[in-house]
Amino acid sequence: MPGFTCCVPGCYNNSHRDKALHFYTFPKDEELRRLWLKNVSRAGVSGCFSTFQPTTGHRVCSEHFQGGRKSYLVRVPTIFPLRGVNDPAAFDSCSFISSA
Ligand SMILES: [Zn+2]
Repeated sequence: MPGFTCCVPGCYNNSHRDKALHFYTFPKDEELRRLWLKNVSRAGVSGCFSTFQPTTGHRVCSEHFQGGRKSYLVRVPTIFPLRGVNDPAAFDSCSFISSA
């Protein structure tokens, strides 16, 4: 078992090494999935993770969830290590979501 690596840009947590963390797959719910993608994309170095298509192999670790874990109230990852995540200008250049 090689473990999972977090797919968030700038995050290198690995389930094999960081056993205290949880690693979540992208939700099946379309709306929720869109929000995850949006947030993860904003964390990209260029502000756009244009070719990113999550598969069952992509995981997001619990560090990106408010309170350190996904829950009924915290369903979308909002905490990212890279700068510019909260910069709307960076996200505006990203059009792949609206065109999907
Ligand atoms: Zn992570």
